Amino acid sequence: MLPGHWYNIVPDLTTPPPPPLHPATGQPVGPDDLAPLFPMELIGQEVSGERFIEIPQDVLDVYRLWRPTPLIRAHRLEKALGTPARIYYKYEGVSPAGSHKPNTAVPQAYYNKREGVRRLTTETGAGQWGSALAFACAQFGLECEIWMVRASYDQKPYRRSLMRVYGAAVHASPSPLTSAGSKILTEHPDSTGSLGIAISEAVEVAGAAADTRYALGSVLNHVLLHQTVIGEEALKQMPEMPDLVIGCTGGGSNFAGLAFPFMRESPRTSYRAVEPEACPSFTRGRYAYDFGDTAGFTPLLKMHTLGHDFVPDPIHAGGLRYHGMSPLLSHMYELGLFEAVTRSQSECFEAGVRFARTEGIVPAPEPTHALAETIAEALRCKESGEEKVLLTALCGHGHFDLGAYDRYLAGELEDYALPQERVDQALANLPHSG
Ligand SMILES: *Cc1c(COP(=O)(O)O)cnc(C)c1O
Repeated sequence: MLPGHWYNIVPDLTTPPPPPLHPATGQPVGPDDLAPLFPMELIGQEVSGERFIEIPQDVLDVYRLWRPTPLIRAHRLEKALGTPARIYYKYEGVSPAGSHKPNTAVPQAYYNKREGVRRLTTETGAGQWGSALAFACAQFGLECEIWMVRASYDQKPYRRSLMRVYGAAVHASPSPLTSAGSKILTEHPDSTGSLGIAISEAVEVAGAAADTRYALGSVLNHVLLHQTVIGEEALKQMPEMPDLVIGCTGGGSNFAGLAFPFMRESPRTSYRAVEPEACPSFTRGRYAYDFGDTAGFTPLLKMHTLGHDFVPDPIHAGGLRYHGMSPLLSHMYELGLFEAVTRSQSECFEAGVRFARTEGIVPAPEPTHALAETIAEALRCKESGEEKVLLTALCGHGHFDLGAYDRYLAGELEDYALPQERVDQALANLPHSG
């Protein structure tokens, strides 16, 4: 059975998160500021005070192609580790695009279509969000135009192909098609791009055309809201309440989507976000107002940020290479509602291979962060004898990432320690408002 609603955690918090600010005035942004970019229904969800929002029938009809997704007890991994912990994972890799991203791409395309929008633009890093939105646009007859970070465009040709199969137009970012892209190409002709740059390009094009809107795959409240379908299903599927929920965080949506419904129903459960050592927004970023993109087109968001011009090292977990973090999760982190830790690239791939050899599924590089932490926790339980119940978000498969696994198996993967000077440098350019 599919849940009939998404869960909005905001009204259940002791204080609401600080609002996005207009960079010119320093005042909270209103619906009119956002209308060139998003349809009214999503702007309403972004600031909603309702605890539950009904999932439209047309969205449920598409969800039914792959939902409910399986919740699986990792018996074989437990046995291999010799742990008394009980490990469960919620697997989102069964979606058409292979990750949790269609959970929000589908309602975003649906609401845009209903409000008369003809075309959506977006950015994509590793290609997971781009392929999810391309799939969703195909479902509702929308055009889709995608700026893909140059490094991934070159390294992941098959994600690019998948987006084109679904009917999307795909450009390498930075591109000469926008002023934001051209400006960067003039200064850095060999730029390998970043998510922040690609967002600037997609936002610029959407803002300039009346029939075009922009779609974002993470970070914003309405995205986290849509992802709660994961946790609502898992609540019904879990045979016992978890002691600890673990998820990887890029912009925060898969972690929030699994965790929020448990935060509502299970006060004794703890939560842990896992981020890459190379891009540690929660653990080494500053909680401050910053732009969501590199060029500074977006409203200012109060979030844990490494600075909008921070370009993370090219780790393979492309979905975790973002300078900022969800403002809602950032606020909840300050309230002490969950903890955050980092893991290095090599320990993550080690966990991914261990998982594949026991449970059979090859995980995407992003959720290997959550798996590395889950395995470490299970091994701590082995030492202490605790029979903890662990639940982790296996938010995508790694079938398009086998090149990265090849490099890991050949001993060629690097770890990137992040020197404090680089963090300080990027933080020196934070905007002054707020
Ligand atoms: C996009 C993506 C992420 C990171 O985004 P979140 O919003 O933090 O979930 C993680 N894993 C996969 C598989 C992704 O596609």
